[in-house]
Amino acid sequence: NQKVIAIDGPSASGKGTVAARVAAALGWAYLDSGALYRLTALYAKNQGIAWNNENEVAQLAASLPVEFIGQTILLNQQDVSQAIRAEHIGMGASAVAKLPAVRTALLQRQRDFLTHQGLVCDGRDMGSVVFPQAALKIFLTASPEIRAERRAKQLNIPLESAEFQHILADIQARDEADQNRSVAPLRQFPDAELLDTSDLSIEEAVKKVLDWYSK
Ligand code: C5P
Repeated sequence: NQKVIAIDGPSASGKGTVAARVAAALGWAYLDSGALYRLTALYAKNQGIAWNNENEVAQLAASLPVEFIGQTILLNQQDVSQAIRAEHIGMGASAVAKLPAVRTALLQRQRDFLTHQGLVCDGRDMGSVVFPQAALKIFLTASPEIRAERRAKQLNIPLESAEFQHILADIQARDEADQNRSVAPLRQFPDAELLDTSDLSIEEAVKKVLDWYSK
């Protein structure tokens, strides 16, 4: 077994927040693998390379000039921590994530985040492809409505607005895309614990993960 806690699940499920807090609680490293796909999409856009150009995007992915400094993410020395969160870049991430050569290019880079202390990582294929020997695998999810509400609250968007409906539709579209793609489709793996956070606070979800790990 690797000293890894792999947390996979759909977008806006809160898996990143939970994973980062579990890492802090254990004193382990943390990998937000989605950020690597987002960085690849942003980098391609900046270089004028189309998101479906598999070879060129894979080359960029293999050579991303990225630095993770605490919460800050630098691409080519520029702070892109906010820029990679844009909805448009999320769509781009989803597009480049469909390309097998891009996934292969990012594989070793992801594995390099494992330190002797241990690693908590979140994404779509952490427990299946990147760290199949992880000590604990979790599929963390919540209903699309709850996920849309959480995102709307972060962005200060009223739940009765047309914008909220937009967010919900985006989340459902991304679920569709992530579940139905042929490479690394989003699934709950048979050896993963199911953690539905629809009715859980962040603290409760973190505690649940730590409890599973200590068993
Ligand atoms: O988790 P996040 O929303 O930041 O991920 C952005 C996109 O990157 C996802 O929609 C998904 O298509 C892709 N992704 C992936 N595999 C991962 C992490 C993210 O395919 N391990």
